[in-house]
Amino acid sequence: MQDRYGHRISYLRVSITDRCNERCTYCMPQELQEWLPREGILTFEETLRLIRIAADLGVSKVRITGGEPLTRRDVITFIRKIPEIPGIKSIGLSTNGTLLAREIGSDTSMAAALRHAGVQSVNVSLDTLDRDVYSNITGRDFFDQVLRGIDAAIGAGFDQIKLNTVLMCGRNEDQLIPLVEFAGERNLILRFIEMMPVSTTDVLDEHNFMSVFEAKKLIESCYGNLIPETEFRTNGPATYYQIPGRGQRIGFIGAMTNLHFCESCNKLRLTCDGKLRPCLGSYLEFDIMKPLRAGASDEELKQFFLNVVERKPEQHDFRDNYQPNRKMIAIGG
Ligand code: SAM
Ligand code: SF4
Repeated sequence: MQDRYGHRISYLRVSITDRCNERCTYCMPQELQEWLPREGILTFEETLRLIRIAADLGVSKVRITGGEPLTRRDVITFIRKIPEIPGIKSIGLSTNGTLLAREIGSDTSMAAALRHAGVQSVNVSLDTLDRDVYSNITGRDFFDQVLRGIDAAIGAGFDQIKLNTVLMCGRNEDQLIPLVEFAGERNLILRFIEMMPVSTTDVLDEHNFMSVFEAKKLIESCYGNLIPETEFRTNGPATYYQIPGRGQRIGFIGAMTNLHFCESCNKLRLTCDGKLRPCLGSYLEFDIMKPLRAGASDEELKQFFLNVVERKPEQHDFRDNYQPNRKMIAIGG
């Protein structure tokens, strides 16, 4: 699949729930969230069918996300079926890490079960190593659980584990160096992400926004000039660097300040309530659940995908005083 601007679509982000056991300020509004009713969520069978159709159209990589994907019941049974889909070569999962260490069988952690089910790469969100700041950002006191979750992920032997840190002025800039050390000690890839306007508007303003440029400068003041790794790609939007003399890799995702950010976009998103979104930073979304539940054929659904790709914008609208419609938690990051 290719759009009008030459973006080749090979990556589908699949959100399987809008629910979460945390309440990160930048992702969901603090007022009580109304979850979608169960019948408004794609069943796993429906989701697998849509992944199969996307794979027929050239998608080779899927990432399971949410909300918190590990809060959905039977997630392992669902994931186990994805590697059976012809054409899918890579399966990733994004998680807040709180449930990775949970025992789900005799002597089996959630992390080990995910690995066994075919997940190759796991992204764990971690914005700070300070327990109080962690609670303050996420609204929950799960810091120790997350650390245990990261250990469980390391023990499970994934091909790749990345830590994702959202940059927030005044909240975690003093944590960037400790996080680099933490990731380095565990041989994990750490990525710094610019905050995007996808929650309530008041969490993102010129006082709390921190650019990847500022983060890079801060890190370089400690370690020296970072070495660009132009050859290293993970299929995602990050730019990677090595810390001199260490061989440690860190990445920067500058959706707000990098003017070339959208040029290599290869992504479509499927929300848990069956909307196809061609871009995270655009209001455009197309209801594929409706034709799916009305009995559309595979050919008709394929055409639906192609029409959505045809509407993919050249770039996101985040820089144009964007007012979020759907919260990040209900899109799938
Ligand atoms: N619950 C999982 C987690 O926290 O990783 C998966 C879903 S979460 C929406 C996916 C990613 O989106 C996380 O790394 C999170 O930090 C990021 N995210 C959420 N809101 C964001 C925002 N406003 N700006 C930038 N990244 C955001
Ligand atoms: Fe939940 Fe992840 Fe959003 Fe935090 S970023 S509220 S953990 S979905």
